[in-house]
Amino acid sequence: MRIAIDGPAGSGKSTIGAALARALGYLYFDTGVMYRAVTIAALRRGIPLDEESVVTEISRNVLIEVRPPTPAENDGRQNTVLLDGEDVTWDMRTPAVDASVSIPSAYRGVREAMVDQQRRIAAGGNLVMVGRDIGTVVLPRAEVKIYLTATVEERAMRRHNELLARGRQSDYELVLSSMKERDRLDSERAESPLRRAPDAIRIDSTGLSPEEALEACLSVVRDRQRPATRPA
Ligand code: C5P
Repeated sequence: MRIAIDGPAGSGKSTIGAALARALGYLYFDTGVMYRAVTIAALRRGIPLDEESVVTEISRNVLIEVRPPTPAENDGRQNTVLLDGEDVTWDMRTPAVDASVSIPSAYRGVREAMVDQQRRIAAGGNLVMVGRDIGTVVLPRAEVKIYLTATVEERAMRRHNELLARGRQSDYELVLSSMKERDRLDSERAESPLRRAPDAIRIDSTGLSPEEALEACLSVVRDRQRPATRPA
């Protein structure tokens, strides 16, 4: 079974997606890290992000590897992300990357390169894949589709608390305005905009604990696993 979870930044996709995968014994894959890795690769090369053809070329050539953390890397990360062999797991989670990642993500060529790899990863089945366009574009025939959301204020507060917990400085108002802008860019872009697939179940995690949101997702999965009852 392939489980697609989409939703805006901070909706709990990664926390819930990873927990769901653990509960089911499935592979977990967060597609956001790929767009973040491309963004870092371009920024580190000093390429202006509005240079679409150069950024697209980079997305075709960088090597992005995602693997479970080793015991020595156990610092709260869900996965370790390597960009051309270098650990960029935390470097890709900075406000600067948050503020720029929607630019490369809007490029058709970048998306084609990423979606290609994502479909290969999903080909083995039994996985939870999270992102913005999984149920609509990457895996339109996924057996379970969930659209996870929450109010923008709650999502910004979660991100703000996450940054503080990692010992970073953070200003809630800045996080909130950056998140609103990212929501706008991700939803209004022409290529694979963030939207709920018509057959996705919407779960609003506002005011829910991670455990409650996980339970809501598990119940969607259980419903799907139950054999359809035929009318007599
Ligand atoms: O999920 P996360 O916040 O890490 O995603 C970072 C950015 O990557 C999003 O704001 C979006 O621009 C892009 N993205 C995307 N399609 C996906 C996953 C992420 O465009 N499937």
